[in-house]
Amino acid sequence: MSGIYIHIPFCKQACHYCDFHFSTNLKKKDEMVLALAKEIEMRSKNTSITHHPSSITEPIETIYFGGGTPSILEISDLKFLIDAVYKNFKVVENPEITVEANPDDLNFDFAQYDKEVDLSVRAESRTIFEELQTIGVNRLSIGIQSFFEDDLKLMNRAHNVEEAKKCLEIATQYFDNISIDLIYGVPQMSNEKWLQNIETALSFGVPHISSYALTVEPKTALHSFIQKGIIPQPNDEVAQEHFDILVDKLSENGFIHYELSNFGKENYFSKNNSSYWLGKKYIGIGPSAHSYDGKNRGWNVSNNSLYIKSIQENKLPIEIETLTKTDRYNEYIMTGLRTIWGVSLERIEKEFGKTYLDYLLMQSKKYFDQELLECVKLSEVETILKTTKKGKFLSDGIASDLFLLNK
Ligand code: SF4
Repeated sequence: MSGIYIHIPFCKQACHYCDFHFSTNLKKKDEMVLALAKEIEMRSKNTSITHHPSSITEPIETIYFGGGTPSILEISDLKFLIDAVYKNFKVVENPEITVEANPDDLNFDFAQYDKEVDLSVRAESRTIFEELQTIGVNRLSIGIQSFFEDDLKLMNRAHNVEEAKKCLEIATQYFDNISIDLIYGVPQMSNEKWLQNIETALSFGVPHISSYALTVEPKTALHSFIQKGIIPQPNDEVAQEHFDILVDKLSENGFIHYELSNFGKENYFSKNNSSYWLGKKYIGIGPSAHSYDGKNRGWNVSNNSLYIKSIQENKLPIEIETLTKTDRYNEYIMTGLRTIWGVSLERIEKEFGKTYLDYLLMQSKKYFDQELLECVKLSEVETILKTTKKGKFLSDGIASDLFLLNK
């Protein structure tokens, strides 16, 4: 077992571009925390997706709080959930424990905060960062998105630029393992402005950056603003230019581009996310969370009330799909081409057979000719198929052209 993902389905306000599962109504927060802890216990005992005994006995290497906005929880809530993992699973020594956080949650008046918090859990003079460390959190993933006020307003983020900078200034004094998120391809963002964003991020010395192109998802506010002509449509060419600037600038600064949207200094790759990309097993806790046990994929209901009700009735609110050989091949191609580890041709032949390998190489031919894909021999016994620098931005499109259809 590689890790446990815990989805915290609450946010202060809805970012205009976001289609993740969350609610801005916090009324059920306490019930939700109890339900999450109960699901952790239920999944450790008897779960349809982790039926295999090995899934339960293999130690947990990473615990990841994602969302939504995990930093909306009290420290005592996070501690309660971490304790629930330790109580119910075997956990390695020094697991990676990540909390996704928004700057406005890490940036408040500490004196005021101290008054509000249960002092049995929290010593009076500690900062939020020390509190997080005390409960075992050793990695922060901070949703900065941009260092420009107009971008943050367009995205409807809950924080402003000053809060973003202040938060990073303080966070870096306590944590060395920090990732920040940045969004590129924002309408009307010039290359110069994007470069400035990256340079500002670098000035804080963080060792990991995740950066995604702004995408317009159906049913989001951004989609409706674009339909009404209030905001221009993001442009693919601009996004590609921003991506190229990002790759060059971060490479110059010692970052390794280890996944399409992720850049880390050596020893600072996200262990949690790397294990998804390397096809390891994981358990997803909470509404909308996904799980994978090597053969089956499961996903929890994306509705807070239904989730809580189901857990209270001792039923896991999960749907399960058993992956076919072709599904597993397609997933491996998709994730492999996005990463520095590529797609191992030997693994394709061993796990899926020669027909799959022949198909893959035949489909790849035109991309070899266009210098978008290449084969790299790692050793006498291992060759990988990977995207070239030019092909990286297009890796999802290329991967889908290498997919096989289920018969
Ligand atoms: S804070 Fe994150 S999860 Fe919440 S609405 Fe914004 S982008 Fe979505």
